[in-house]
Amino acid sequence: MSLVVQKFGGTSVADPDRMKAVADHVARTRRQGQDVVVVVSAMGKTTDDLIRLAHDVCDDPPGREMDMLLTAGERISMALLCMAIEEHGVPAASFTGSQAGIVTDTSHGRAKILEVRGDRLREAVAQGKVAVVAGFQGVSIERDVTTLGRGGSDTTAVALAAVLKAEACEIYTDVAGVYTADPRVVPSARRLPSVSYEEMQEMAATGGRVLALRSVEFARNHGVVLHVRSSFTWEPGTWVNEEGTLEQAIISGVTHDTSEAKVTVAQVPDRPGIAARLFGALADDDINVDMIVQNTSTGGTTDISFTVPRADLAAAMRVSEALGPEIGANSVTADAEIGRVSVIGAGMKTNPGVAARVFRVLSDEDVNIEMISTSSIRISCVVRAKDVERAVQALHAAFELDRAPA
Ligand code: ASP
Ligand code: MG
Repeated sequence: MSLVVQKFGGTSVADPDRMKAVADHVARTRRQGQDVVVVVSAMGKTTDDLIRLAHDVCDDPPGREMDMLLTAGERISMALLCMAIEEHGVPAASFTGSQAGIVTDTSHGRAKILEVRGDRLREAVAQGKVAVVAGFQGVSIERDVTTLGRGGSDTTAVALAAVLKAEACEIYTDVAGVYTADPRVVPSARRLPSVSYEEMQEMAATGGRVLALRSVEFARNHGVVLHVRSSFTWEPGTWVNEEGTLEQAIISGVTHDTSEAKVTVAQVPDRPGIAARLFGALADDDINVDMIVQNTSTGGTTDISFTVPRADLAAAMRVSEALGPEIGANSVTADAEIGRVSVIGAGMKTNPGVAARVFRVLSDEDVNIEMISTSSIRISCVVRAKDVERAVQALHAAFELDRAPA
């Protein structure tokens, strides 16, 4: 019998009514003769609430205890969902990440999956049960409970789909799929029928909020076909697979991200080893550096700017300021008012001139570009945070993304 993995995010199971709607859908899928493994997130804003609670009792909660706390959210969901599924006369059994055999490394708060055993899930399914697994969690090789990073239930779902050789991994969420831009910013944004792993990876990495980046990487590496769809309308959504869209568009989407900040280390001597020292120190402190720009030198010195998640800004400043005198920097400044706009499309590989067009559109909008980075299928520009939405709207219109390509 074919097996499907169905993952339900926090909004999909936010309250008892939602939980019942999801149970109804799962039971119906099971009755249609499919084997089903379900992965659930914590209800609604539970994870945020638990994090707040931790900080109410402790300034710097230890990772081990934080993970123990946060995994409770998914435990609540899985048990309640099983009960609701049983109401339909369909047998179901819940499993923690540990019980499901999800083995991770020891890095609390952002553990990486090392192995998925899945024996107990296979047993449950063989007994005709729906297996409901708590997302976002595993057990480390040192037998401590771990979490996989925010949004990690997507990764749980994809990992299980890979190891259980599921036909597809359905990711149910509160939007109808992957859009050409965030519909809250661009009301005419279109749902894409399908996107390639490559494009989805770039979208997830640059602010597309539908899928966790790591889950897309995992899906790509293991050839797991994803179907992102709504648990509110239950309509077909967006397929994520190797081929992607059959549409011949140059650009598939415009994403934006205002969660980063910029640090500038000014007038450091232009000689070998400076960047290595700076970024080595940042890496030692586990600070995730995203974009880096170094200017051409004038008078033997150069400016280095880089972006980090805003949450890491204080730490990045601490490291950079401490290192400043040592590497001969004139000043270190922070700028939290930045945003990034990215255009993504596999068609860029074969169509020259996309970058020029992007820069022209931004210039016509009087949006100043502060940093640029590219991949073979993406162009990203850092601009003022206040200009981000206008930039997204202008690019979406200029590339006519509201219209399906012929
Ligand atoms: N509950 C976790 C979070 O909010 C994991 C998830 O939802 O995927 O990040
Ligand atoms: Mg979530």
